[in-house]
Amino acid sequence: MEQTFNGIDFLSALALLFLFLYVLFTNEIRQLHKVYIAFHIAMMTWPYGMFMLSITPDQDYQWYAVNLAFVGLSFLGYGWLMFSLMLTKGLYRMKKAGYLVLGLPALVAAVLVTLNPWHGLFAATPTTWLAERTYGPVFWYLAGISVLYVLLGSVVMIRALFKTKDFGFRRQIVLFLLGQSIMLLLALLDTVYTSTPLFPHLENVTGLTSLGIVFSDICFVIAIRKNNAFRIISIALREVVDSMDTGIVILDDRHNVLDRNAVATRFFPMTVGQPFPIESLMEGALEPGFGRGFLSSYFNETGKFLQTEVLVREQAPIHVTVKITPIYSDNGSYVGRIVTLQDVTEWRRLVHELHDRNEDLTLRNGELTLMQEELSVANRKLELLATTDPLTGCYNRRYLFQMLEYQIAVEQRYRVPFSLILFDVDHFKQINDTYGHHIGDEVLRHTSTLIRARLRESDIFARYGGEEFTIYLPHTENRDAYRLAEQLRRIVESQVVATDRGDIQITISMGLISVDGDSYEDENPKQFLVEVMRKADAALYRAKEQGRNRVVVA
Ligand code: GH3
Ligand code: MG
Ligand code: MG
Repeated sequence: MEQTFNGIDFLSALALLFLFLYVLFTNEIRQLHKVYIAFHIAMMTWPYGMFMLSITPDQDYQWYAVNLAFVGLSFLGYGWLMFSLMLTKGLYRMKKAGYLVLGLPALVAAVLVTLNPWHGLFAATPTTWLAERTYGPVFWYLAGISVLYVLLGSVVMIRALFKTKDFGFRRQIVLFLLGQSIMLLLALLDTVYTSTPLFPHLENVTGLTSLGIVFSDICFVIAIRKNNAFRIISIALREVVDSMDTGIVILDDRHNVLDRNAVATRFFPMTVGQPFPIESLMEGALEPGFGRGFLSSYFNETGKFLQTEVLVREQAPIHVTVKITPIYSDNGSYVGRIVTLQDVTEWRRLVHELHDRNEDLTLRNGELTLMQEELSVANRKLELLATTDPLTGCYNRRYLFQMLEYQIAVEQRYRVPFSLILFDVDHFKQINDTYGHHIGDEVLRHTSTLIRARLRESDIFARYGGEEFTIYLPHTENRDAYRLAEQLRRIVESQVVATDRGDIQITISMGLISVDGDSYEDENPKQFLVEVMRKADAALYRAKEQGRNRVVVA
């Protein structure tokens, strides 16, 4: 029966291989996985092809099997080199074009093997074509580049062996090198045996290369398993995630816990595969009533970023910030969420402390303001005490002279007129003697009040001493000053002072001096003031002399 080539099986196998590669290269596995698996496939191909060769008498199939085995063999050395580079991190530093160029000789070999031009791989007669084959240049090219690849990969490994200080990694490299050496040795033996039958007693031993491949792969697997070569990154990531003090929980699209780090379970007990305990978490919601709204968002608005703070009661209550972030796949569909839990107790405490301190400061500030106001009042009192006479409330003599010195200096400079009245209560000694000192004081207070009521804001009314007073009238000429003096004299005369001892009537005598713009003399203000006071005093004396209760102009 004529055997026919089954295209469907062949295409299915190809499709499966394609699918396998597709899954392999589009999933989240590390470059090292990919390179190893590709290398592994290349390794598997040789024994598979050789096995197929042995079970079919059909020459076409045999050719196909041999071809497949040699295509696998073409990539074996390259796979080893890639794996060596990847394992020792050399590949990460190389550009993509770099390993494509490195793979070119292998690709050429695979193409040549497939086409087998002019029986370049090997020649054989139709009847005993495999038993008495002779190898052609394609075979030697293939063998040559394979040996080169293996040597190159081995050099890379040996270099890493001397460079690394990591003992585990060294052991791993040694195992890889051992495996590779076994493979190379048996493959060479196979070649020598099949091309030149040097060892007749080994005539029936076939599959040496396959054996070599299996032995080497056992070494590789041991090295990989023992030292977790593939898991280093994921172990490191796990380590990082577990050593963080932020709790991290990954949820699937049905709110179940897919994974969580160690810290997360310290905040809330949770089980992988079970729903995330959001309800018990929200029992610690800080604002009452807020929890329900949050839960509703959690279950119904899964694509939303959510954040809240809850109190977790362990031995001492701790504040935990909860952030829930949706995760989307590459094509934009919602796949789950990441929950982060962060202990913010210390931060909260600091905020409270700051707040308290602020309140304290505000309080103290208020106290200071109050004190400042009190001080200001006291200051004003002191100023008043320093400038006024306590009995009558008039300015005192010291203040009077201070002011006059200044005023007169200004008025002298600009030749502005002013007047000054000096007055004295008539027969005051008699009042004291008749009614007592106390009533005398009362009379002085009454008289000063009476007079102050008639004066302008700018006039300076001062107690000169005893029962003598001065009134300084700025910008006032003699005529006006005299009219005012007369008015004051008459008011005092007409008003009686009501006391416990009955009404008392008094009079005052006044000396008036006026200085107009032209009568200034260019002397120093202090001297000028003394002169003015002396003249006023003289005028007052004359008023007393002339019979009291009158105004005398100097
Ligand atoms: P004259 O008409 O000449 O002015 O007669 P006089 O009695 O007023 O004589 P003089 O001005 O010399 O007398 C002033 C008296 O005023 C002497 C003193 O005892 C009295 N005196 C001075 N200061 C005060 C005071 O603050 N209160 C009282 N009650 N009496 C005072
Ligand atoms: Mg007097
Ligand atoms: Mg007097």
